[in-house]
Amino acid sequence: PQPDPETGAAVKAADRAHVFHSWAAQGQIDPLAVAGAEGAYFWDYDGNRYLDFASGLVYTNIGYQHPEVVAAIQEQAGKLATFAPAFAVDVRSEAARLIAERTPGDLDKIFFTNGGAEAVENAIRMARLHTGRPKVLSAYRSYHGATSAAINLTGDPRRWASDTASAGVVHFWAPFLYRSPFYATDEAEECARALAHLEDTIAFEGPGTIAAIILETVPGTAGIMTPPPGYLAGVRELCDRHGIVFVLDEVMAGFGRTGRWFAAEHFGVVPDLLTFAKGVNSGYVPLGGVAISAEIAATFDTRPYPGGLTYSGHPLACAAAVATIEVMAEERIVERAAELGERVLGPGLRELAERHPSVGEVRGLGAFWALDLVRNRETREPLVPYNASGEANAPMAAFAAACKKNGLWPFVNMNRTHAVPACNISDAEAKEGLAALDAALTVADEHTV
Ligand code: PLP
Repeated sequence: PQPDPETGAAVKAADRAHVFHSWAAQGQIDPLAVAGAEGAYFWDYDGNRYLDFASGLVYTNIGYQHPEVVAAIQEQAGKLATFAPAFAVDVRSEAARLIAERTPGDLDKIFFTNGGAEAVENAIRMARLHTGRPKVLSAYRSYHGATSAAINLTGDPRRWASDTASAGVVHFWAPFLYRSPFYATDEAEECARALAHLEDTIAFEGPGTIAAIILETVPGTAGIMTPPPGYLAGVRELCDRHGIVFVLDEVMAGFGRTGRWFAAEHFGVVPDLLTFAKGVNSGYVPLGGVAISAEIAATFDTRPYPGGLTYSGHPLACAAAVATIEVMAEERIVERAAELGERVLGPGLRELAERHPSVGEVRGLGAFWALDLVRNRETREPLVPYNASGEANAPMAAFAAACKKNGLWPFVNMNRTHAVPACNISDAEAKEGLAALDAALTVADEHTV
């Protein structure tokens, strides 16, 4: 595309005039004006093209502008652009069937929402009504969304400003060997201690007061910490023992990201409720939902479910989901994500870690990887302090700027960068990303001691 800086400046000025942005001090941001996107890339009006190693906000699992999904949305718009949720609509039923066929176990009923946070809100509502209990346990180092219950369940600083409404939420530590809260020295020890800690938390909170335990199957924004073998099975067992609903949040990890349709498959665990969004239709039209077990669904066979949304199962979003799931199956995109992790991203990132002292740990699977950046490999001191901003965050800001200069749009959170590209990128594109990371890590290395 031809550079057109004048239009770019106008687009940015219009944004600054009236658009109020998420998570930002409005006077301190400088949003890039985007001119277009295709596949794993997007570009601005100044002639810069970026390989998107963040997949937007980790949701364009099939890349941008997949022609079959775009065509399906256009076709649905011409046929039936919208319809209210209380009616039976062909494309909504088909999306629900395709999702239910892929969710694990007996999670066969789908409640549609507009995104991940609403999925979490409704999962928690279902769990409380199903059990008649008030409390919910969630992990530190988690993100569950920015609406009322979802932000209070979240275990990162984004929660702090909204903690006023956190009634009934209790946080606990999930396993994370590299930064173990349990002083464990191997995965088996970390797993055992994390389960003992959760068991104690349940005992001290009162098992009969706890409606649900919610976990990201593989925590995403908090650092892509694949749980050790046996942990999720152990949580499942604790839930069964105490009649607690087990909710797995697969908003980020689901729909191919980890190399399986759902990350739960890696662990052989079936939750009672599973939340999804993002990859379900790669975010081409907002969509999320809750997959519901037979037992919890039966609770609402004779008792009305007290929750709903005007756009629940919106036909355009469902058409995008049907086309996305079909494309993912036809093009073997889930298998591709697994292969990408095993053959290209995993080995490539580990090789970078060998040469760059700023890389403390490489973690991940599929198209879902994190580099934990450190000042000192021995002490594992993070490259920037927890929740740093301004000058304290300068090393990470310099790293991100170096990525962009090298044509890579990075995912950056605290002292980590995540390699989370579209699940269907080519080997050559993945290697281009690794080369850009290589150059940018040299900048991070300058801040090591
Ligand atoms: N749950 C998880 C695991 C997420 O990663 C996110 C978003 O990043 C959410 C929930 C919230 O989803 P949304 O932003 O669509 O409300």
